[in-house]
Amino acid sequence: MTAETSEEVLLQKVREFNQDPRIHGLLVQLPLPKYISEHKVIEQINPKKDVDGFTPVNLGYLVSENTILAPATARAVLYLIESTGIKIEGKNAVVIGRSKIVGKPTAMMLLERNATVTICHSKTKNLAEHTKKADILIAAVGKPKLITKNMVKEGAVVIDVGINRVNGKISGDIDFENIRETAGYITPVPGGVGPMTIAMLMENTLKAMELAKKI
Ligand code: NAD
Repeated sequence: MTAETSEEVLLQKVREFNQDPRIHGLLVQLPLPKYISEHKVIEQINPKKDVDGFTPVNLGYLVSENTILAPATARAVLYLIESTGIKIEGKNAVVIGRSKIVGKPTAMMLLERNATVTICHSKTKNLAEHTKKADILIAAVGKPKLITKNMVKEGAVVIDVGINRVNGKISGDIDFENIRETAGYITPVPGGVGPMTIAMLMENTLKAMELAKKI
């Protein structure tokens, strides 16, 4: 597949992989070129092979708390929070970013674990007012150093999903160096959510293999 691949050729390829019993997991690398409908392509993926968890069926299952395959980055975020040993129930969790692949599924998974969840986005007024109340703070925006020290509560669990290229270097959305002392726990970029996402993608692929056996 190249950047010139037509929508119909891509859809045909997805249908072919859906039918192939040797393939258990299937994902379409986003973003797609503008002339291809992302929705149409994602919708075409067999939900049982949807290791990214982006199909409307799997997002629906996530909302109905009956998850089959959940988005890997959201799973990575939850895994990192749970690995600290803190109890999520009753905590104030603030998710910055409302994309359907990161922000929304992450918020849903936190809600399922009984956190009080606030979702902030580009139209949120006075972001700091919300972030300062967060026991758990997740930034999934794509803006370097959007979150500064004065926006973070002492002892908070801070998870940085953002990936930004600044002067040839990768950095997150959080001002890591200045917040690491304030935060109780904090993830670096690179080396935090990114590698954990890959691990969750692998785990989703194993789950998909198990699902195939049940058919
Ligand atoms: P997106 O562009 O789809 O969504 C960004 C969100 O940020 C939007 O909901 C928008 O409303 C919000 N936003 C924009 N400006 C804001 C502001 N000033 N204040 C508050 N909210 C604001 O992006 P995405 O696909 O959700 O990805 C977010 C970031 O996470 C990107 O940097 C992306 O590269 C990174 N990412 C990392 C991984 C990983 O594995 N580590 C996986 C997916 C995405």
